[in-house]
Amino acid sequence: MASLQVENVVKRFGDFEALKGINLAAEDGEFLVLVGPSGCGKSTLLNMIAGLDSISGGKILIDGQVVNDVHPKDRDIAMVFQSYALYPNMTVAKNISFGLEMRKIDKAEREKRVRDVAGLLQIEGLLGRKPGQLSGGQRQRVAMGRALVRNPKIFLFDEPLSNLDAKLRVEMRTEIKKLHNRLGATIVYVTHDQIEAMTLASRIAVMQDGFLHQFDTPQEIYDHPANTFVAGFMGSPPMNLIPAKVAQNGSGLVAEVATEDQRTLHFQVTEPSEEISRRVGADVLIGLRPEAITDPDDREANAVIQEVECMVHVTEPTGPDTLAVMQLGGVEVVSRMRSSSRVRPNENAKFAVNLSKAVFFDSRTEQRI
Ligand code: ATP
Repeated sequence: MASLQVENVVKRFGDFEALKGINLAAEDGEFLVLVGPSGCGKSTLLNMIAGLDSISGGKILIDGQVVNDVHPKDRDIAMVFQSYALYPNMTVAKNISFGLEMRKIDKAEREKRVRDVAGLLQIEGLLGRKPGQLSGGQRQRVAMGRALVRNPKIFLFDEPLSNLDAKLRVEMRTEIKKLHNRLGATIVYVTHDQIEAMTLASRIAVMQDGFLHQFDTPQEIYDHPANTFVAGFMGSPPMNLIPAKVAQNGSGLVAEVATEDQRTLHFQVTEPSEEISRRVGADVLIGLRPEAITDPDDREANAVIQEVECMVHVTEPTGPDTLAVMQLGGVEVVSRMRSSSRVRPNENAKFAVNLSKAVFFDSRTEQRI
């Protein structure tokens, strides 16, 4: 296995800059996920790591060696594509062993490796079939088998689950995670699905329009998004962004929030950063995850909680909990209540706002402060 470094990487297609100076790194055995909306440049970056796309600027290093000009087949990387790219006329066994044959690995060794990988992926019974005789999930396993059998330094996955139905996606996600736990392989995985990113990654790179917004652990990205784009993209429903004004309150700071019925709430800023302290009188956005606004009886212990009363506009039961939508600071705000909660539309309800979980963004730059 191997480490990977991406340093100031730029990609230009003619005049168009698809990647605008990307910096990230995967340590040996890390599961790195590149996530972002369509067109953000994640597949381009993966292709550059694989050597399938040229690099317009910057450096890519594998195990400390610059590979910018190293041919794809000499990078010791295996890629699993969205389309699986299986050979339709070959059996599963042949599909898996074909790359080894090309590398002149002898027959006995090839057969042993195919058996090992088939056992690992539980596809022993399918080795004699052709891809056309397999389900989507089975094809996915074969595509992974073809990568695994080579025992490469780094695995690259390009949206490998996007052709599967929702249930199978979740199952295969767990399989991939188990496989990673067992092999300890270095993986770079592309997806536009933020849940896949959160559940699989040791670190996530959140991208948009060729920019890397944040590169951190899933929990850090969830709790402390770098800006409002990350706050909105990661998490479902997304983080609430509530307009407020910073004000001095004795020796502390509060964020003033207007309610629908013309009251002003004063939310204590629990741990004011220097950046917020410099913004007394300025407009900010308070970032609160839906689960940070909940039933007063479900409040978190040892947290700074403020109770507020608001008119509920809509309730949406999801099964495990009920989302209640209200208005704060002139925007719709989603709270996550217990499913047993008695919130009703067009009635007032009490909410416990967990201010220890609040983060703040500059209204103008949209960066966390
Ligand atoms: P998706 O999730 O839709 O696959 P992505 O994040 O993987 O999107 P890329 O395929 O990496 O995005 O594309 C990034 C940007 O570069 C897009 O705006 C795309 O149109 C552009 N692009 C990609 N390949 C080329 C090319 N060969 N020539 C010109 N522009 C390209």
